[in-house]
This record gives sequence, C-alpha cells and structure tokens, in this order.
Amino acid sequence: MKFAMIGAGAMGLRYGILLQEAGNDVTFIDTWQPHIDKIREQGGVYVMRDHKDRYLTKIKLETPETYDDDPDMLIFFTKQMQLEDYLKRCKHFFNDRQYAFTCMNGMGHIEKLQKYFADDKIIGGTALIATVLPGPGEVDFMGKRGAGMMNMCPLNEKPDDMCYQLFNELKKAQMNPTLTNDFTGTLMTKVIFNSVINTICTMFEIPMGEFGNFKGAYQMGRQLIDEAYDICARAGIHLVSTRDEEMAALDHNTRIDMPLHYPSMYQDMIKDRPTEVDYINGYIANLGRKYHYEAATHLFVTQAVHLAEYHRQNE
Ligand code: NAD
Repeated sequence: MKFAMIGAGAMGLRYGILLQEAGNDVTFIDTWQPHIDKIREQGGVYVMRDHKDRYLTKIKLETPETYDDDPDMLIFFTKQMQLEDYLKRCKHFFNDRQYAFTCMNGMGHIEKLQKYFADDKIIGGTALIATVLPGPGEVDFMGKRGAGMMNMCPLNEKPDDMCYQLFNELKKAQMNPTLTNDFTGTLMTKVIFNSVINTICTMFEIPMGEFGNFKGAYQMGRQLIDEAYDICARAGIHLVSTRDEEMAALDHNTRIDMPLHYPSMYQDMIKDRPTEVDYINGYIANLGRKYHYEAATHLFVTQAVHLAEYHRQNE
C-alpha cells in the first residue's frame, strides 16, 4: 500500500517506519526545519527502543510543497493545533480516491479532515502506543516490538476493502489494531482517558506510575471521569467502556503497564511547546456547555495546564 505520513514526529515515525518495515511504500511529510535538516544530514532517522539499540533507518522525506505523488492512504499525525496548516499546505495532492486515517489525541481534527475528505474516506482511531521524539532526527519507540494497542473505525461505521487493507497492514506492522463499530464512542473514550492521565501528569511533571500509586488518584480520576460521562450521556455519545472499566484501565495503565512513562502532553510541556489540553479537557468542557452542563473540574484543569505552560514560559 502507498502511504503519505503527514507529520513525521514521534507517532508519524513509529507508524510510518513499522509500516515501511512491513513492506509498504511510505513517504513522510514534515515542516519542522531542524528535523528535516537533521534527517537529510544523517541520511535517515535514528530509531531506539526504550532508549537502547540505536540504529539508522532510511526514510523518504518531503515537505508539503515538494511532495507531488498520489498515495492510497494519508495518515495524519500532527498535533491538533498544527493540523489546519498542514491540510492547507498539502491540499494540492489530495484527491477523491484517497483515504485519510488518524489516531491523533483529542477532538477537533475530524471536523477539519471533513473539509477535505468525504465521510466515507475518513478512518479515525486511538493509539495506546507510547513514543518519544527526543530531538530532531531521532525517535524512541517505548516498549518492546508489538507493545501497545490501537482502535480504528471508519467515520461512516461501514468498513470497506481499503479499511480492511489498512487494518491488515497495521496488523502486519504489529500495531495490534482492533476494528470497532462506534466511531464517536471510540474516540471519546480515549479523550476521557487522556483527560485524566495526560493532563494531571503534565501539570505536576510526574511519570504515570507516580499518579497511579498516589492514594488520591482514584478520587481525582473519578471526578473527571464522572463529569465527562455525564456530558456524553447528555450528548447521546455511547462510550465503549463503562465508568468502572475506564477507572480500571486508568489504574492498570498507570501502575502496571507504563509506570515510568511520561505522557505525550508532558513531552510538549518540557519542550515549551503548547499542549493539546484545549482539545482534551477543554473539548469536554465545551461539549458540556452545549448541553447545559458546567464541567467545573475539566474547566479548572484546562486552565491549570495553561498556568503551568505560562509558568514555564516565564521561568
Ligand atoms: P510530535 O510533536 O512528535 O510531532 C508532531 C509534529 O510536530 C511533527 O510534524 C514534528 O516534526 C513536529 N515537532 C516535533 N517537535 C517539534 C518542536 N520542538 N518544534 C516544532 N515542531 C515540532 O507529536 P506526536 O507525539 O507524534 O503526536 C501526534 C499526535 O498523536 C498528537 O495528537 C498526540 O497527542 C497523539 N499521540 C501521541 C502519542 C505519543 O506517545 N507520542 C501516543 C498517542 C497519541
């Protein structure tokens, strides 16, 4: 299958390199100049697993302006606030035949993709796959080969041949995909999960296990989960886990699966980049407003993360 990976950051590189190793034709498209320069200078990307076994992988890299091909599938792995700019700069190679797939965190990206792609060509998903970009030209795949898992679902909830082909390629690449049948429920369940772990660990600059092992973790998580679930109930969104299942997943993920991992939002904070909190807790709070529900904790937490960003900028 021919892929264009739009956004060659941590996740773009992980998906793209693993799809390439599984035999696919992948071209990476990026705009961050120091990253592009470094990859060209060293003749590829340095890949590590859990900070070890560093090796150089050759990749095809273009900018939106220099890419002029016709891929079957465009995969979007930008930060939420970068997507609009990427879409505008890449639109010259979009056409009606192509599919757009993404496992970005947060919400807001699907509406942006709908401006360029028909609903039956959009496939969304979520990824529980931890990856870090330590600096330009290198990527650290956290966990062993085959670690992590992901969900995917076409926007129209009717998987077609291309969707199954993508699923098979992701399976070959050991991304452990599950095809679900509820688009919004799948995406929102992950947004709610991130609204607890990503946000709290980022605000306090702590690894996930430190939150999971804290005796007040259940109470803090439960308050955010309850608000989000109440809002989804009002909005008619069917979530794929119950509240208790979501709490159990949070506990397992923080204490057992990835206690030493810092969430991707934290990576932005320490690099003094803006976080995606407005698209996670902020999105939940805005959805609440639409249904006359004041999500006081999500609103507070959104501003607390912005305060932490502001504090770092003024340090
Ligand atoms: P990323 O920041 O690594 O890369 C996204 C884009 O930002 C790329 O174009 C990259 O080149 C650019 N970039 C990276 N560092 C930069 C810097 N210092 N200055 C300017 N540009 C820079 O993002 P990611 O972690 O790949 O995340 C993409 C999406 O996937 C996000 O929505 C994220 O929340 C989600 N996600 C990430 C992870 C993870 O573990 N990294 C896991 C699941 C979902």
